[in-house]
Amino acid sequence: MDLKSIVRDIPNFPQPDIVFRDITTLLKNPRALRYTVDTMGDRCGELAPDYVLGMESRGFLFGVPLACQLGAGFIPVRKSGKLPAPVYSIEYELEYGTDRLEIHQDAIEPGSRVLIVDDLIATGGTAAATAQLVQQAGGETIGFGFIVELAALGGREKLPSVPIISLVEY
Ligand code: 5GP
Repeated sequence: MDLKSIVRDIPNFPQPDIVFRDITTLLKNPRALRYTVDTMGDRCGELAPDYVLGMESRGFLFGVPLACQLGAGFIPVRKSGKLPAPVYSIEYELEYGTDRLEIHQDAIEPGSRVLIVDDLIATGGTAAATAQLVQQAGGETIGFGFIVELAALGGREKLPSVPIISLVEY
């Protein structure tokens, strides 16, 4: 299936000269949504994660169905101040500014295998920061899954050397 034709391009969002890759058109398309989750599941299955971890908020949209598909649990990584129990926290650079991500300190049992999933990788800052959080929390990042990869930005070079799976490349 040609997911690229289903992801919508929004020019000049969130600022001039940026083309935003809008995945809401994929989410609302039943066949494309099923295909995306199935394909991710097929390609990530052999990694046998204990947990799929998704970043707020678009990582949640794909992370939870993927976790179900793989028979894994789901762990949310959230923006600052949202998680109720004690957290580890990391500040990181975004494509458009800086932000802070947090994970519950007791979210990951020591040595658990974690697959990090987000809708899109651009500069790689979000995913790299998330991998640091996983390490801090005692987990092992065993792979990354992205629906969309903006390959020209070289984000995957910021990530640890584990399998990095993406379904659509720009
Ligand atoms: P990075 O940290 O790799 O530079 O940016 C990736 C993060 O920003 C992801 O969490 C992703 O949801 C968001 N993001 C950045 N650009 C886009 C885009 O064009 N489309 C979508 N859907 N998300 C984006």
